Amino acid sequence: MIRRSTRFATILVGIGLVWARFACPPSQAQAPGAGTFALTGARVIDGTGAAPMEGATIVVSDGRIQAVGRNATIPAGATRIDMAGKTIMPGLINAHGHLGADTSKRPARERLTAQLRMYADYGITTVQVLGLPLDDVPDGIKLRDESRPGGAATDRARVLIAAASLRNLKTEQEARDWANKYADMKVDIIKMHITGGPMDMTPAVYGALIDQAHKRGTRTAAHLFYLRDAKGLLEKGIDVIAHSIRDQPVDQATIAAIKARDVEYIPTLTRDIATFIYEGTPPYFNDPFFSRHIPGSYYRDEMAKMKDPANQEKIKKDQAAQSIKQALAQGRKNLKTLSDAGVTIALGTDTGTNEGQWQGYFEHIELEEMVKSGMTPMQALVAGTMGAAKAANIQQQLGTIAAGKQADLLVLNANPLTDIKNTRQIHSVWIAGRRLATVNATN
Ligand SMILES: [Zn+2]
Repeated sequence: MIRRSTRFATILVGIGLVWARFACPPSQAQAPGAGTFALTGARVIDGTGAAPMEGATIVVSDGRIQAVGRNATIPAGATRIDMAGKTIMPGLINAHGHLGADTSKRPARERLTAQLRMYADYGITTVQVLGLPLDDVPDGIKLRDESRPGGAATDRARVLIAAASLRNLKTEQEARDWANKYADMKVDIIKMHITGGPMDMTPAVYGALIDQAHKRGTRTAAHLFYLRDAKGLLEKGIDVIAHSIRDQPVDQATIAAIKARDVEYIPTLTRDIATFIYEGTPPYFNDPFFSRHIPGSYYRDEMAKMKDPANQEKIKKDQAAQSIKQALAQGRKNLKTLSDAGVTIALGTDTGTNEGQWQGYFEHIELEEMVKSGMTPMQALVAGTMGAAKAANIQQQLGTIAAGKQADLLVLNANPLTDIKNTRQIHSVWIAGRRLATVNATN
């Protein structure tokens, strides 16, 4: 595989950073799992795209997977948990989420924690936050550190942090200064906005931003819409494309550029859907898996607004909202093209920023929409696990079920390979080998 030297250097530094950030000194580490246990008799979808294993065992010790397979040895004294009839897959990873849905006045740590708990309750065990207001970043970084493998927090989604997205910077020096500032804050990734508008950073400016981020060992992700901007960003070494290319078909040169540097592509189809779907009342408002979080959560007020006929009328008449329908259709076609070409597709939703994009629930809708766009259920599941782990640069520890990986697991009552909507048939969610208690269910 051809890689640019800068990218290669970033990868080497990046692996070091993953360990530095994710490893915890033994004195601080708490054993996240109580002893050794074995989940037996399940169908296991390991997240790599390999055929599912039937009647398989997963052995977990101290929060990590020790062994997996039909013939995995269960250590003497290990607790056996019968999972016959269940499907076990890696916990879902959202490579493009946000933590802005809770707009209450309570302290940042409480707001952020509640949202990470919401994600986890839906089986989303890691969220990469691609844009967090600067005021919230210190608490976000603390929560990130606590959620590292070996850390104490196992009752909410693990989190990776980008600070506020950078946009409209005017000079290369300004761009390098911001990259340094963010790297000093120990963010995981730097996010930028290239909208296609007249105030956008020029390629020279975003090139300096990407270059300086890489010099500091930090990856980069871009919000974009247009193919022209994708080409420019790829030319400058962007690491993650955070939304679909939606203005025209992706061409062979762009596909080659994405593949040459193993750039991850996050479609966020639900973001586009959410811009127009509230012209009416969406069918999922009646889905019990959705509505169980209405009481006492930030879902309640948002739902009331989305059901308001006046608001629905406004969206019907909104040209910008309506024009997204066509963009979404192009985005779907490009997703199919890129997936067929072997590009790494990563699950991302943009939940937690705009209204009507539901943290936890929309990740499941996104998987369904990927399949509606032509991906197979297996391809969608890989995007939601290994693919998203790559987009968050945590694939060494998370995103697949294999010996040595963290035991972040989603146990399902039905097989998502026969119907992708079965990811919603959640039996249990496990983070670092601990089963999450179900919270906030109807009342
Ligand atoms: Zn976003």
